[in-house]
Amino acid sequence: MISQTYPISKGDKSLTDDAYGVIMRPDCHPKVSIVVPVYNEEENMGPLFAELVAVCDAMGDVYELVFVDDGSSDGTVSRLKQLVGQHSSPLHQMRVVELSRNYGQTAAMAAGFELARGDVLVTLDGDLQNDPQDIPLLIRHLHDNRLDMVVGWRQNRQDAALTRKLPSWIANRLIGAMTGVRFKDYGCSLKAYRRDMAQDLPMYGELHRFIPVLVTMEGGRIGQVPVHHRARRFGQSKYGLSRTFKVILDLGMLLFMKKFFTRPLHLFGKVGGATLLVGMGVLFWMLVEKLVFGQSIGSRPMLMLGILLFFSGIQLISTGLIAELQIRTYFESQKKRPYRVRSIVGT
Ligand code: UDP
Ligand code: MG
Repeated sequence: MISQTYPISKGDKSLTDDAYGVIMRPDCHPKVSIVVPVYNEEENMGPLFAELVAVCDAMGDVYELVFVDDGSSDGTVSRLKQLVGQHSSPLHQMRVVELSRNYGQTAAMAAGFELARGDVLVTLDGDLQNDPQDIPLLIRHLHDNRLDMVVGWRQNRQDAALTRKLPSWIANRLIGAMTGVRFKDYGCSLKAYRRDMAQDLPMYGELHRFIPVLVTMEGGRIGQVPVHHRARRFGQSKYGLSRTFKVILDLGMLLFMKKFFTRPLHLFGKVGGATLLVGMGVLFWMLVEKLVFGQSIGSRPMLMLGILLFFSGIQLISTGLIAELQIRTYFESQKKRPYRVRSIVGT
């Protein structure tokens, strides 16, 4: 870490202090942070480290590598600490963030985003499947086109066809069709972001697969760049087929969030109101049958249906009202803004 390699006093006005109290000289502020979530990737760390350092050194800017260990049970952390100890310098800052247990890739990425200090953040997998040589390409695309994010699109993907590529193919199309945010490859971890965009993303559960959708929901501009892909040489993939179902559930949740997050009553109120009205209509008809036509209605299924619809409607509307209260609490308690400003012109 920079505070170890650069013993400097806090009183010096020319120094900046990051959110975690690490003091940094302004000329050592990293332009790029490489964020790598790792879970049991011991054998991959040496080669990945060497490749990343070679590529980042060649870019010529101050950079930092942020490895987030997601509760590995093998020797990943000690290997990383060893590598970081050998390479840290004011211009090549290295951090190992050790999470207390295995939280999952999304949380590990979120921790990396929070701790990263570069103007541009780049994420990639820790298993050598992404090629660090593609990093400069992504960053150039981000800057040249003034984008908020650039996503990699894996060419000749080196994974099993039936269990990996086919589900991905379906998921990519499904996500595109349902959300209207169309990209070729949602699953590629190699991505570049402007730091403020990455740090504002709601990274819960396993939402890292939907980052392009989340960025679009924030009004961000996204580009897509073809990148290389390699087969896993060491260690094992951490995911099986069950992630397909999780993707579908997350997709439903995101669709709701995208459309109704700030106004849940518009969904619940509409459906609830319609249900209530139909219920009231049915009950009214039952009343007419009893009072006007003198029929016995006690055993009529229509009566049951009317009561069911009536109370379902009331419940849906109540749920909407509670959700509205929660949304207000969310925004007001955290002073969150329901909008994002891209730029302001003028004084
Ligand atoms: N990973 C993680 N936490 C987890 C699972 C995975 O940090 O709980 C990391 C993993 O070490 C790798 C990246 O996320 O760096 C992608 O995982 P993996 O290669 O297993 O996914 P695949 O390429 O098979 O989709
Ligand atoms: Mg992988």
